[in-house]
Amino acid sequence: MAQYDYDLFTIGAGSGGVRASRIAAAHGAKVAVAEEHKIGGTCVVRGCVPKKMLVYGAHFAEDLQDAKAFGWSVDNPTFDWTVLRDNVLGEVERLSGLYTQTLDNNNVTLIHQRASVSGPNEVTLADGSKVTAKYILIATGARPHVPGCPGHEHGITSNDAFHLEALPKRILIAGGGYIANEFAGIFNEFGTHVTIINRSDTLLRGYDEQLRDRLLQISLTKGIDFRFNAEFRGIEKQADGTLKVAMTNHEDLVVDAVMFATGRLPNSEGLGLDTLGVDLGERGEIKVDRFSKTSVDSIYAIGDVTDRVQLTPVAIREGHAFADTVFGGKPTTVDYSCVPSAVFSHPPLCGVGLTESQARNTLGAVKVYTSDFRPMKHVLAGRNERSLYKLVCDEADKIVGIHLLGPDAPEILQGAAVAVKAGLSKTDFDATVAIHPTMAEELVLMR
Ligand code: NDP
Repeated sequence: MAQYDYDLFTIGAGSGGVRASRIAAAHGAKVAVAEEHKIGGTCVVRGCVPKKMLVYGAHFAEDLQDAKAFGWSVDNPTFDWTVLRDNVLGEVERLSGLYTQTLDNNNVTLIHQRASVSGPNEVTLADGSKVTAKYILIATGARPHVPGCPGHEHGITSNDAFHLEALPKRILIAGGGYIANEFAGIFNEFGTHVTIINRSDTLLRGYDEQLRDRLLQISLTKGIDFRFNAEFRGIEKQADGTLKVAMTNHEDLVVDAVMFATGRLPNSEGLGLDTLGVDLGERGEIKVDRFSKTSVDSIYAIGDVTDRVQLTPVAIREGHAFADTVFGGKPTTVDYSCVPSAVFSHPPLCGVGLTESQARNTLGAVKVYTSDFRPMKHVLAGRNERSLYKLVCDEADKIVGIHLLGPDAPEILQGAAVAVKAGLSKTDFDATVAIHPTMAEELVLMR
């Protein structure tokens, strides 16, 4: 008789947990995965995927305006939020079904319950039953952090934004990171008046400064308001249903909705990890070694719950590497260098490798090439919005960073990121013939 019910028990069927379970099963392991919500996790159900669909939906506002200069008459276009919302939620449902199918096809047992760890090789399900496994993988992701100010219960998070009954006329978004800037763009294009309040004067920390400044300028031009060095004091619900928000250094603001986008916390609570002696960090992140093993030999953790890099493709790689290491006989680690990333703001901003200031601080002498241009489509449309591309090179002309802001920038960066990862030089870029006329050709034409 087998010593354990399963070879692997995964808690959490998000991007990382599904990949790990599927690959472990393909390596011959007997696998079960527990999920208390929908299969697919943050990315598929309440993150990247539905967000991107809202970004597409929002961008029509500008496309419809610009269409006139291209000869199209689109008089009085109207927008129905409920149509987009329901179509997006329908697509989420379909994708979640596909994820479920993938697990089924790989003979992974799916358990629709919350699970917690009750021993190094034992999991307890919400119905009280116990299951044993040789290895346990925690892939429970992260959740929005909501500051504990008075009246915070009147605010929403990005989780709720996909389900709104109606669009608010005015929204205050707290935070200056990915989610704040992406949803500011979405709401603003739909006609909601957006105010971003941020505790510092720095937006999108970690991205190149010049591009962040450009995004701020463009966002202001589009009508998004910003209040910097503003910390939440509280939210008061008024008799007419509006919300009065008090903050440091600024006047109170009355809005119809408040959204917290102030970071995400690892979902490590209530899993029984502290009792077992699994080491956690200050934010509750599960500490792991480079093979994603926790301080308990039979327990591993991947994805946002480890708070290494909170990005779906990274969680997927961690899940795959875990399965190859533990069940494939091929010890594999994830390379965290040169991870490209993007903010799907309007316009999007993205980067790979070192920013100019990071390069100056670490390498000393650097060469920076920039292209500050107005895309052809914007010129004809009379849209005064400039793109900004930047190549950061070391002294020997090796490209150590690429940073792009402008239409379709993330689509353009993915290919260019291969070149940075491969250690190519500016000379290699210069030797590549441009595809004309494109925005991407700027990458090989910078002098
Ligand atoms: P971010 O870390 O991007 O930004 C958080 C923002 O909130 C920062 O401006 C931060 O300020 C501020 N903040 C943090 N704590 C507090 C607090 N206690 N009070 C007030 N302000 C605070 O987090 P998001 O919530 O936007 O997104 C979470 C993560 O999800 C991202 O880091 C990213 O990894 C991932 N994500 C990725 C996306 C993508 O790839 N396109 C899209 C959405 C999310 P400060 O800078 O001062 O710390």
